[in-house]
Amino acid sequence: MKKTVLTLAVTATVGFGTIFTGYAAKTEAASFSELNGKINEIHEKKADVNSDIDKANDKIKSIQKQQSDVRVSLEQLEITINETTKKINDQNNKISETKTEIAKLQDDIKIIQERMQKRSLVLKDRARSYQENGGAVNYLDVLFGAESFSDFIDRANAVVTLVQADQAILKQQEADKKELQQKQDKVKNDLAGLETMLSDLKNMNQQLAAQKAEKNKLLKTLDSQKAAEEKNVMSLKEKEQILSSQENAINKAIELEKARQAEAKKKAQQAQIQSKSTASSGSTRSSGSAGTASSQPHVAVSSGAFTRPTIGPVTSGYGYRSYDHSFHNGIDFGSQTSSDPIVAVADGVVSRSYLSSSYGECVFISSIVNGQLYTSIYAHMASGSRSVHEGQVVKKGQRIGTKGATGAADGVHLHFELHKGKWEYDKRNKINPSGIIPGV
Ligand SMILES: [Zn+2]
Repeated sequence: MKKTVLTLAVTATVGFGTIFTGYAAKTEAASFSELNGKINEIHEKKADVNSDIDKANDKIKSIQKQQSDVRVSLEQLEITINETTKKINDQNNKISETKTEIAKLQDDIKIIQERMQKRSLVLKDRARSYQENGGAVNYLDVLFGAESFSDFIDRANAVVTLVQADQAILKQQEADKKELQQKQDKVKNDLAGLETMLSDLKNMNQQLAAQKAEKNKLLKTLDSQKAAEEKNVMSLKEKEQILSSQENAINKAIELEKARQAEAKKKAQQAQIQSKSTASSGSTRSSGSAGTASSQPHVAVSSGAFTRPTIGPVTSGYGYRSYDHSFHNGIDFGSQTSSDPIVAVADGVVSRSYLSSSYGECVFISSIVNGQLYTSIYAHMASGSRSVHEGQVVKKGQRIGTKGATGAADGVHLHFELHKGKWEYDKRNKINPSGIIPGV
């Protein structure tokens, strides 16, 4: 049995070469329930995607809360660091004041030491004079050498005065030494205390700086987490959009297919009536727009359900490519002229028409052929050449754009993909167009 094709008719004016058969009538109900099942599947997927979006948004909120917490503690840290830095400066001032004090004390000590040296010289002189006169014993000689009693008194007084003066000098020396020692001890203690405090403050500031660095690092991590989550939401929203636009396109395609089937039924009934009354004249099918004599390049439209998407040679086929060890999800068509037209391979509804970072200017078309949903993709179209919009009904062979090199394309070519079913992110429904699309 010849493969019956239930093309997606748009208007009643199109001549249907397809004969409505009993086979189609039998499978009709089953096909539509299967297609409705696909739509339910999309609904479920959309619900999943929406719950993923909610989850991602919750995550973003929690990250934002964490970020504001970190920012608050960073502000507090900043305040504490400023306070500690001020304390360190104060401490440094005190230390330099103390050092000035120590320097001044050292000057005082020098003066005292000089005084002590002088005194010791006086004592040495005196000691020498004692030695020259036979030491302390000579005080007696001084006394015994008195010529009279009054002379003796004078001499005795002189000896007492000398002894007292020596004792006073010794006492003064002792006091000076003590004072000096105490001052030195006190200032040294002060300095040690100040230096300990300073080192504590410096330690504290180092710890605070480390905490600050850690918080900043955390903030950066949170920033990148948030960016990743936002990117996730973006891609989820894109996913949802593709699901929605595909759902709309499939719904529309089902409506059109139902209308086409009703129309075909009516025509078949009319033909039956006609064939009973008159001999069948037989309708011929026009193939494409061969009637218009134009020098513009155009794609010859095949008579089956599918037609070739463009002119130009196949430059890369479907499947594993040994030269780059990758799987080619579609077929590439190289350019034949400077503006090769790209046409819809089957009747259908445009489910996506947008600028993708990888596909470039691209169009997705949902078609129902023989009750089977197909999604065809046309990528890397010339900039500004995309001429169909989402939800638009297109006919097989209808121009939808011009060959280009937008998106991730090395040169001008059409990257064409065919999916049996709907387009999925993992492209699990991709099929080899060879054998389905004529001339590839
Ligand atoms: Zn390709």
